[in-house]
Amino acid sequence: MNKREFLKLMSLILLGSGATGCRNESYGGDDRDIKGNQRVLVIGAGLAGLAAARELTLSGHQVIVLEARDRIGGRIWTSHQWPDLPLDLGASWIHGTTSNPLTDLADLLRTKRVSTSYERSVVYNTNGEEIWGAKEAKLESVRQQISAAIRKAQNSDPDTSLRQALASLESSYADDSEALRFLNFCVSGSIEQEYAGSANRLSSHWYDNAKEFDGDDVLFEQGFEVLTEYLAQGTDVRLSQVVQEIAWQESEVRVRTAHDEFLADRVVITLPLGVLQRGDVRFVPELPEKKRNAISNLSMGVLNKCYLRFEQAFWPEGIDWLEYVSANHGQWTEWVSFQRTVNKPVLLGFNAADRGSEIEAWSDEQLVASAMETLNAIFGPDIPQPIDWQITRWASDPFARGSYSYNAIGSTPIIRDELASSLSGRLFFAGEATNRTYFGTAHGAYLSGLRVSIDVLST
Ligand SMILES: Cc1cc2nc3c(=O)[nH]c(=O)nc-3n(C[C@H](O)[C@H](O)[C@H](O)COP(=O)(O)OP(=O)(O)OC[C@H]3O[C@@H](n4cnc5c(N)ncnc54)[C@H](O)[C@@H]3O)c2cc1C
Repeated sequence: MNKREFLKLMSLILLGSGATGCRNESYGGDDRDIKGNQRVLVIGAGLAGLAAARELTLSGHQVIVLEARDRIGGRIWTSHQWPDLPLDLGASWIHGTTSNPLTDLADLLRTKRVSTSYERSVVYNTNGEEIWGAKEAKLESVRQQISAAIRKAQNSDPDTSLRQALASLESSYADDSEALRFLNFCVSGSIEQEYAGSANRLSSHWYDNAKEFDGDDVLFEQGFEVLTEYLAQGTDVRLSQVVQEIAWQESEVRVRTAHDEFLADRVVITLPLGVLQRGDVRFVPELPEKKRNAISNLSMGVLNKCYLRFEQAFWPEGIDWLEYVSANHGQWTEWVSFQRTVNKPVLLGFNAADRGSEIEAWSDEQLVASAMETLNAIFGPDIPQPIDWQITRWASDPFARGSYSYNAIGSTPIIRDELASSLSGRLFFAGEATNRTYFGTAHGAYLSGLRVSIDVLST
């Protein structure tokens, strides 16, 4: 049995017996555990940080998690603003349930999930007409031409942005404004919403380099937080501790927060890529060039959510996805209905990439009015106004600075390994952006936390 298998087994045994691992109230400068266990600080109580902290705590290390917010979860954030409907403002889905480690966790917790499917979707044209028959065939043909153009760019050097890869296709549609709108619809709906990066910046060679798990996409009825709440049990998490400085080349690492100072043998850093890029946390000495290059060459994307609640559904009730070919690129392309899945008259509209960033400056009222313009275009002027809404602004969030990372032109997969690599056996890096195989996802974050715990245990 290797170390990973052993740890997993230990987690399962402790889970089964209801044990919660050991807890340290606090540690100062020189109270190193006499058994040789390490003082480990984990920065960030998102999925990556909590997964790492749990494993290391269960292995007997003295672990403290420092979290800037007044809640755990990070980009897992279940809102209870509507008491009858927990809503995820960050990640919603386990993408691909087969062999996904989050499925194992959710199964252990016996938490209820519901699947959504693109098989249950309707596409509406700019004038609100449902797309079918000849229009559907035209849309499909545009989709195939996009795939062919991207494949060609992926087999050519040098790398280009996706927009450049599609430039000649776009020109060929110069006299067909509908084909052009279909192109923008496909780019927005199938690429920018998924990768959160703008087609102007996504690398043709690497944007879709992540692997995927097979199986359904499932939502948590009680919200994604069931997983983070579970992982945090028995872990010493200190909330409202905004880390400002990490001094890392002495015999021990000194971490300064707005209120306190902590000393540790090892520090696990799960700060979001956007936070690292902004330089909000100072490293003393500064990080080596390779690490700094990795941080600056990857990119942080934007995906924002706008939940609208109505008295009752006025849209087809049996569908999961409503898609809209907007006149302007990226405006309210994708919607999810919660009517079929959880029997609630709620629509979730997305804005991603450039459009996702742009709308963050708008007021809630402006945003809802813009969303309603689209719904009016589809369902007519007589539909009711929403009775409430919940809206995210992830790029403006000081502890996220974006939604998740993507591969921009100029980046290559190896850069993520450089972001993930440890320094001097003291600083360890985790978080979705460090996961070369599953970046941008909740399972990628979780797996990075497990990976880093093995790295710390091996030092
Ligand atoms: C809108 C949206 C939708 C998404 N949808 C999905 C989805 O459906 N499925 C999916 O698989 N993934 C999805 N994701 C991606 C997924 O949520 C993330 O990849 C994952 O949650 C990231 O976890 P993490 O631990 O790497 O980072 P985080 O969860 O961001 O954790 C980092 C932690 O560090 C803390 N922190 C930041 N700065 C400081 C500081 N100075 N001091 C101390 N702490 C600090 C943060 O507050 C945070 O808690 C979505 C993300 C967003 C935003």
